[in-house]
Amino acid sequence: MSSIFLPPPVQQINSEIADHAGVDLYVLRLDLMHPWVNGNKWFKLKYNLLEAKQKNFTTLLTFGGAYSNHIYATAAAGNLCGFRTIGVIRGEERLPLNATLSFAVGQGMQLVYFNREMYRQRNTIALQEDLRQRFGGVFIIPEGGCNLNGVRGCTEIIDTAEFDTICVACGTATTLAGIALSLHKGQRAIAFPVIKNGSFLTQEIDNLLTNYLASSLPAPTEPGAWELVCDYHFGGYAKVNDELLRFSQQFRQAHDIPLDYVYTAKMFYGVMDLLRQGFFPQSDRQRHRLLLVHTGGLQGNVGMEERLP
Ligand SMILES: *Cc1c(COP(=O)(O)O)cnc(C)c1O
Repeated sequence: MSSIFLPPPVQQINSEIADHAGVDLYVLRLDLMHPWVNGNKWFKLKYNLLEAKQKNFTTLLTFGGAYSNHIYATAAAGNLCGFRTIGVIRGEERLPLNATLSFAVGQGMQLVYFNREMYRQRNTIALQEDLRQRFGGVFIIPEGGCNLNGVRGCTEIIDTAEFDTICVACGTATTLAGIALSLHKGQRAIAFPVIKNGSFLTQEIDNLLTNYLASSLPAPTEPGAWELVCDYHFGGYAKVNDELLRFSQQFRQAHDIPLDYVYTAKMFYGVMDLLRQGFFPQSDRQRHRLLLVHTGGLQGNVGMEERLP
């Protein structure tokens, strides 16, 4: 299953700001692993798909918004791996379908729409029973791939002791939890929530890690040092301003790396800002080695660009 993916390249970036701060900057390009199933979403899906296969399920069902990277990736990965897929979409149907949903349908995904009130119950046993009644035996993957299988996959994102700090954008924090479980001694991870008031995620991460360690799933290491930096949400989920758009454009021009507006642009912006403030410690012997995880999500830019004024 993994053989359809290219190993993600690590790209060094030349940046005066980083240079000044005594930091060597690298980007882990998860966005280049596969044209459709890219980014952290593949890592979160991997063990869910394997469990579904093992248990002889033929249909995957999952949840997401109309522009969801997770819906997009599940449709593509399901199709590649021989599953039928059903996407439960938050809100009402809007025709014509946007680029994300028409791609999903093109991959064979069946779409179902839930109003906000129904959608809110997506993790309840009652609603999941209803869905099983309606669609037969479906393997249910939570929104965003946020479960212990998702965490397990994300323990495979980083497999090197080479970097001092690893930075990642943070939605549900599944990715951060997986990275925290794979840190080597002396490494730390910094997660940048893309939602407002993201500090509640500290508790979510603690819960994910506790539940993971209590499960029988393999953990490469004890959870390492991690922290949240909550100042770079730009007003909330999928909110952007001119400064963020300008940053994204300039970054792409300077380094030939496209960023998505919802996740990676905010994290990269935050890192560059922290570099200016001397946030990353350097020892006298060695420059600080900083790895930014490019988690993909570029498909969402199509919809975002359509919605920009
Ligand atoms: C979903 C997503 C994230 C957030 O991952 P979590 O595991 O939910 O924290 C980050 N970046 C991109 C591009 C994503 O699509």
